[in-house]
Amino acid sequence: MIPYGRQHIDERDVEAVVDVLRSGLLTQGPKVDAFEAAVRDYVGAKYAVAVASGTAGLHLASMAAGLGPGSALLTSPITFVATSNAALYTGARPTFADVDPTTVNLSPEATRVALAASRDVRVVSPVHFGGLPCDMPALKAAADAAGAVVVEDAAHALGARYADGGRVGNCQHSLMTVFSFHPVKAIAAGEGGMVTTNNEDVYRRLLRLRSHGINKLDDAFVVADESSEGGQSNPWYYEMLELGYHYRITDIQCALALAQFSRLDEFIARRRLLAERYDAAFAGLEHCRPAQGERARSGHHLYVMRIDFAGLKRSRSDVMRALRERGIGTQVHYIPVTNHPVYRSLGWRPEGTPDAQHYYREALSIPLFFDLSDDEQAQVIAAVLQVVS
Ligand SMILES: *Cc1c(COP(=O)(O)O)cnc(C)c1O
Repeated sequence: MIPYGRQHIDERDVEAVVDVLRSGLLTQGPKVDAFEAAVRDYVGAKYAVAVASGTAGLHLASMAAGLGPGSALLTSPITFVATSNAALYTGARPTFADVDPTTVNLSPEATRVALAASRDVRVVSPVHFGGLPCDMPALKAAADAAGAVVVEDAAHALGARYADGGRVGNCQHSLMTVFSFHPVKAIAAGEGGMVTTNNEDVYRRLLRLRSHGINKLDDAFVVADESSEGGQSNPWYYEMLELGYHYRITDIQCALALAQFSRLDEFIARRRLLAERYDAAFAGLEHCRPAQGERARSGHHLYVMRIDFAGLKRSRSDVMRALRERGIGTQVHYIPVTNHPVYRSLGWRPEGTPDAQHYYREALSIPLFFDLSDDEQAQVIAAVLQVVS
């Protein structure tokens, strides 16, 4: 069975992890710092904070952006539930604007309209869907005009580039950017995430929140008579300055992520080649087109086909089963967040974002990952041509 996505692991990864196990430092050692520095320098941001998962990163980013009861986070319905759950964790309200039908990314126009209608939006969270970067200048301008900050969900987009050529994560158009290192993403840490920013206050806050809210770096102590004695600070002393979490990542995970990171550009180049081959192979299909046409700037996290199942006179379930019988795994990215029971109970209705619903009815992700061999891709192409024409 060929899955829709899978990690690539080789001997260098295995050795990197084993080296950490032999080193004696399992958590918060040199590999965490090294991985943060590597990603920070690669994307071109000032600061990076590694955390236990992309979801943990989104949660801390929401807190550092000042979300809480009485404020709202606006995002795209076509994302994983973690993006908007980050608002719910803080007691804030999630809200949604529709997608652009040609990119499946948050529409700047729909975002402007939604921001004009709800004055409590404090964070706009664009998702670089499938690895294709959003129109950040337009989204940033819309957020600025509404007094909101931007937190990018770049779980799909490590290594991708904005239209201006900058790397996703440089935070030229946002306050923070969040990455994920779950095994299906560009590089694997097992589980892991990272938040990048150019804002020192945000950076310091993220460091504290990642570890129980206890002071970090040179955070000043609050309780003077406990913290020092005779003008000298007590070596045993620390303070919890706010309620934080235990969202740290381990050296074991960062060693793996670093080994993977050294091959990121190679991973992306292979994914792009595979995506372009799919584009060419399926160009003649009547009821089918790629969900995203732009290939040059993407991180190529997913290859999503848009299939007019009604025109094809075959249901999506039927197509998925027929492909499965031919050894091909497929998936739907995503069920719009607004369609889930929890979000319905908050008052959201699928009809509120019609372009997202239209996309959802047609979407099907087919296998795209570094280890997909030429022979396996030929097998996928042959099966799709059989089933979808
Ligand atoms: C994977 C993913 C996340 C969550 O990342 P984890 O590391 O699994 O917590 C968030 N948003 C999007 C769009 C994702 O694909």
